[in-house]
Amino acid sequence: MSRTFLIIAEHRDGKLRQVTMEALQAAIEASEHDDRISAVLIGSGVEPLADELSAYPLSEIHLLDEDQFLTYNPETYTAALGGIIETVRPDGLFIGHTAMGRDIAPALAAKLQAGQLSDVIAIEKIDDSVLFTRPVYAGKALEKKTFAQYPWVVTVRPNNFIAASRSDHPPASITRVVSTSATPLRTIVKDVVRKTSGKVDLTEAKVIVSGGRGVKSADGFKPLEELAELLGGAVGASRGACDAGYCDYALQIGQTGKVVTPEIYIACGISGAIQHLAGMSGSRVIIAINKDPEAPIFKVADYGIVGDLFEVVPLLTQEFRKV
Ligand code: FAD
Repeated sequence: MSRTFLIIAEHRDGKLRQVTMEALQAAIEASEHDDRISAVLIGSGVEPLADELSAYPLSEIHLLDEDQFLTYNPETYTAALGGIIETVRPDGLFIGHTAMGRDIAPALAAKLQAGQLSDVIAIEKIDDSVLFTRPVYAGKALEKKTFAQYPWVVTVRPNNFIAASRSDHPPASITRVVSTSATPLRTIVKDVVRKTSGKVDLTEAKVIVSGGRGVKSADGFKPLEELAELLGGAVGASRGACDAGYCDYALQIGQTGKVVTPEIYIACGISGAIQHLAGMSGSRVIIAINKDPEAPIFKVADYGIVGDLFEVVPLLTQEFRKV
């Protein structure tokens, strides 16, 4: 029996987000040859992105391109995406485990009368069912789950699936959809203020240089910013550093902050409390710089440097500049 899967395509600053292609890859891994994978793209002035997306292995793109979708509003987005879902009736819906994905997935699951699994990091196919892996207990264990029935909704953790590649098939068809919902709004988004650590989105960064209380001041983050910029990465922080006022909470990584899975995570002056590990232990390579050889971060680190971060970080920057 052929199935239909739908992904929600996310974009930012006029570009498709990498998590969109990762969600597509997750859908590909969950599907069989004769299954259909479609995407829905919502925003304002996003038609060029639909063209770009049509080069990927998709059957169809549903395009919701209206002024009212300029910024994310849970009410307008849920109503419009809900309309698409009612038409497409997907067997499986894939959304990035991003701020928007986490917010909207339960509402869409309710519309679809579907079960939902969040923060999926791997997929296996077993006969007609799909087995999803996701971290539990703040990353201390992994659980594997399957749904008893279709339809279902999953959110996909960024940086865990290889981004799907463009296909050499004819481009996917693009269907422009006009939203018909006339429900009066209870929320209006007036302004969106972005607080990030730089050009690279923390949750999608391949390299993160993260600072803890050992950084000692806002100025102490400067060497970390320099190294992150050189490596094309982003700056993150422990809650200790955020609580101390050295940086914005938008940078916080951990159980009550962001969950990141970069290829390289450089922890500078971070002790390695369990709540911090919950947000970064899935990183591919962890490098810890701490002057205390007994710091718990060394237990999860692949490489450890016992030393003063104010000496080690500039030295690393100096060496990387030579490469
Ligand atoms: P510290 O534990 O004070 O460690 C500082 C480290 O810097 C030390 O290991 C020290 O040896 C080293 N150091 C000092 N000077 C230097 C130097 N010059 N060079 C090199 N190393 C140096 N924490 C998070 O990070 N994220 C969360 O999401 C989070 N959520 C939480 C939720 C709850 C419910 C609770 C109770 C706590 C949470 N915490 C979280 C807090 C967590 O328990 C720790 O308190 C916090 O992670 C400590 O931050 P830190 O490692 O920067 O500071």
